[in-house]
Amino acid sequence: MHYQAPINDLKFILFDVLEGGLLQTLEGYEEATPDVMTAIMEEMAKFATEVLQPTNRIGDEQGCAYDPESRQVTTPDGFRDAYQKFVKSGWSGLDAPTLFGGQGLPRVLKFIVDEMVCSSNLSLGMYPGLTHGAISALFSHGSEALQETFLPKLISGEWTGTMCLTEPQCGTDLGLIRTRAEPEADGSYSLRGTKIWITGGEHDLADNIVHLVLAKLPGAPDTTKGISLFAVPKYLPVDGKRNAVYCGGLEHKMGIRGSSTCLMNFEGACGWLVGEPNDGMSAMFTMMNEARLMVGMQGLGLAEKAYQVSVAFAHERLQSRSPAGPKNPDGPADPIIVQPDVRRMLMRQKVLNEGMRALALFVGFQLDLSHSHADAAERQRADDLVQLLTPVVKAFLTDEGFNNANLGLQVLGGSGFTTDWPLEQLVRDGRITRIYEGTNGIQAMDLVGRKLGQANGRLINTLFNLLEEYLAANPDAAFASSLADSIAALHQATQWIVANGPEDPEQAAAAASPYLRLMALTVIAYLWSRMATVAARKCHAGEGDNALLQSKAVSAKYYVEKLLPETAWLLTDITSGKDSMMALSGDQWAA
Ligand SMILES: Cc1cc2nc3c(=O)[nH]c(=O)nc-3n(C[C@H](O)[C@H](O)[C@H](O)COP(=O)(O)OP(=O)(O)OC[C@H]3O[C@@H](n4cnc5c(N)ncnc54)[C@H](O)[C@@H]3O)c2cc1C
Repeated sequence: MHYQAPINDLKFILFDVLEGGLLQTLEGYEEATPDVMTAIMEEMAKFATEVLQPTNRIGDEQGCAYDPESRQVTTPDGFRDAYQKFVKSGWSGLDAPTLFGGQGLPRVLKFIVDEMVCSSNLSLGMYPGLTHGAISALFSHGSEALQETFLPKLISGEWTGTMCLTEPQCGTDLGLIRTRAEPEADGSYSLRGTKIWITGGEHDLADNIVHLVLAKLPGAPDTTKGISLFAVPKYLPVDGKRNAVYCGGLEHKMGIRGSSTCLMNFEGACGWLVGEPNDGMSAMFTMMNEARLMVGMQGLGLAEKAYQVSVAFAHERLQSRSPAGPKNPDGPADPIIVQPDVRRMLMRQKVLNEGMRALALFVGFQLDLSHSHADAAERQRADDLVQLLTPVVKAFLTDEGFNNANLGLQVLGGSGFTTDWPLEQLVRDGRITRIYEGTNGIQAMDLVGRKLGQANGRLINTLFNLLEEYLAANPDAAFASSLADSIAALHQATQWIVANGPEDPEQAAAAASPYLRLMALTVIAYLWSRMATVAARKCHAGEGDNALLQSKAVSAKYYVEKLLPETAWLLTDITSGKDSMMALSGDQWAA
């Protein structure tokens, strides 16, 4: 079954709900008219189906191969060709700075493209995905010389990028990094150490690989405040000589098997400092925040593909009769889509996917406003929302993306468990998205431990102002009172954490994951209210795609009745505190 990009829904959310047509009024985005953006979406929809999707299964079956003699990695059949087409079509520089050869298009468009890429071939999409993060880190923190050396090739896609943080003894806690960088007389550095699980660390898709590596300078503090960032290319740009950074092996993984996950040895490799000494974490955060949003789109992309397959299957699979009497009296049985329990699964997938898409595009749109709005206060407001909601997008879209893929598999019954259908791969591929780029638990800790208190609570207040101003200005908005209830629950939960967290940080940490979920469900409720309100208005005016608009009303009702009530339970979870979670000790765990 072929994936079809959800172009109508994307257009509805971007142009009708978020008023993305305004993007063309921002400086630098004059070209980004709705017509241009629609044409780009349609082009990627075609590219995803015709070029990326055909190599997805083979990528999973073959995986990457490592040759210990040459220490090189070969990607699955067809990957190199598809990647070259991706690059030649200009996709790698879509939203990259024009100064270095990018097209400078809005970030929200990149979100849309990412969803389609991830629906069709997540593993292949990871190579340009990591490169994009490297571009942002170098653009924001690299010296002019580094930018001129690396950015044009990374943006064109001739070279790819990686992000080298993790080491055997250090995953979440980067303060434990052991990789060292010794200064050389010519201003460069010599790096020694081992990094593990590096995505795209070695492959045969591009001419060069630029590793962005966290390492410690001599005498640096033994915490995250002593970490610096270095650009370490596989081939040295000046003379093309092979640098002393080699792949020592590949991981054998549950999913994303077409994406190379490498052990990388730095054996006195030559690198250059990016940003200031000991300030590597801020440069790396530019890359990680970017990557976190991209990983959120991975969750959504997989969930959308799973949804499309399970809907098609449910229409075709004949089993049993409807509880309301035969719906297909001439056939041996009814299609399973008539079963309320199957509908429960399909509706949950559909409504969450569309809500998650709205959340992602909302954040992508704010990202554009934060960079390009003419008014500084508006830029700040948008940036507050991006910062606050980045961990929410990463964690909620990957948790629910995975859950939706799993639900899709359930819709297919035994067929879903077999390799005849794509669901089992989607579930396996989706599992990692909840782990890398900081586990979802760490995203929740970031939200509660850093973002809530940041700038004296300005970020969270910006969100509350947005939600409350919406309700005040739109008293007749769809399901306004349910939305008001969930905003009130988010308020109460925030106050509880602010009251209890400073005195007992374990309380805030215990509340973190349910709090992130509560925020996600509430912001998505706000977006469902906007979607349902706009859909009703357009239906009334006889504009737009009638089937889509009418389905929005039903979906919004489903969201409010079946999904949003979870917020009340989450509030109870949060305010019941840590005691039952933290009380067991010693041998009580065995009981
Ligand atoms: C396929 C794949 C690709 C990857 N790609 C890259 C890459 O390109 N570059 C790179 O640098 N790394 C990469 N990683 C590593 C990935 O980012 C880490 O696996 C991830 O950050 C978690 O670290 P860890 O596995 O060491 O888990 P640990 O840090 O050991 O954590 C184990 C568990 O403890 C929890 N935990 C730990 N500390 C805390 C805390 N303070 N509060 C609450 N919970 C906590 C975690 O949430 C997790 O559930 C990749 C990993 C995989 C599997």
